[in-house]
Amino acid sequence: MHRVYLDNNATTPVLPEVLEAMRPYFGDHFGNASSIHHHGQETRAAVERARESVAELLGCRPAEIVFTSGGTEADNLAIFGLVQPGDHVVTSTIEHHAVLNSCKHLQFDDRGIEVTYVPVDGRCLVDPADVRRALRPNTKLVTIMMANNETGVLQPVQEIGRICAEADVYFHTDAVQAASKIPVRVKDIGCDLLSISGHKIHAPQGVGALYVRKGTTLEPRFFGGSHERSRRAGTENVPGIVGLGNAARLALQDLENGEQLAIAALRDRLETAILDKVEAAGVNGVGTPRVPNTANIYFDYIEGEALVIALDLKGLAVSTGAACSSGAIEPSHVLTAMGLRPDRARASLRFSLGKQNSADDVDFAIQLVPASVARLRELSPLYNKTAAVSS
Ligand code: PLP
Repeated sequence: MHRVYLDNNATTPVLPEVLEAMRPYFGDHFGNASSIHHHGQETRAAVERARESVAELLGCRPAEIVFTSGGTEADNLAIFGLVQPGDHVVTSTIEHHAVLNSCKHLQFDDRGIEVTYVPVDGRCLVDPADVRRALRPNTKLVTIMMANNETGVLQPVQEIGRICAEADVYFHTDAVQAASKIPVRVKDIGCDLLSISGHKIHAPQGVGALYVRKGTTLEPRFFGGSHERSRRAGTENVPGIVGLGNAARLALQDLENGEQLAIAALRDRLETAILDKVEAAGVNGVGTPRVPNTANIYFDYIEGEALVIALDLKGLAVSTGAACSSGAIEPSHVLTAMGLRPDRARASLRFSLGKQNSADDVDFAIQLVPASVARLRELSPLYNKTAAVSS
């Protein structure tokens, strides 16, 4: 069956060049990077080369990069590494669960830690003034994501960074969905901590990194050896780190070559064509800056999960932001935070493109989606043509 993958915000395929760069580290170059003999020195050099490439992508010093097992661990290290009993934290209602559930855990830990969740508006945007108003004398950390994983909407992180600097509060940003799609430079953002994940930038799953600004003291999450300058104990995942370094280097080249402009053009064509052909549909987060690859579209009168399955049966992979808990489909916390009705939030699909997608892939989706929506609406007791036309 012809298959098209438009779910690159979930994960991206490892690039052939990245796989080739990693291959020797599963074979001949197997040393433990902490060993002082030849085998260890070989892998140590590879880890440090990768650190330089990641630092170059983020515009920081190599020593400010801590390799982790992915975005979730980077977010956890930033939050639990900084926050102490009695501290106050500011975050937003649309963060990834790696941040949201970490903040919830802080609150329920009986340590007197309080968290303020700033809202977003109907465009999925945090208002920096809300962040400023939320600050208290004991605020230790503000953690606001750079790009939302469901809508792709870019948060005003530079302004938030300025507010945090003025107030002498640490600023962490989850840049997992921003890195490689737009320039991510820690100095421009003004952040102290920033998370990225390998598998969102064409490196393998299970590797990521946290930028830790020089002078920022973090309590480690793991205890063991003094790896990663005692910030993250555990023998390094050398092949994964080599993959991340190579993917970072290629991502920087692509950004310099304007590759993301081509992806944005494909995404815009997809959105325009679908909205042209489907009534009672619209883009969530439209009209604000977004990463170039993401389109989150609602199709009233259908269940998003049913549409995902229908499209998958025809060969198109997309996703919803909804989570299935205890048999019931919960509407996405991001879309409901934006003020979408629960039924509209459940009727929303995320299309996320990657560098491997072609114009033909987009044409395939443009053909398939309107027909599948029409078929599901015919079966839907909710669907009523008069309502659809007047909405
Ligand atoms: N943060 C965001 C915004 C994400 O989209 C994801 C993954 O979807 C993560 C964090 C978690 O990253 P990882 O899968 O590498 O743990």
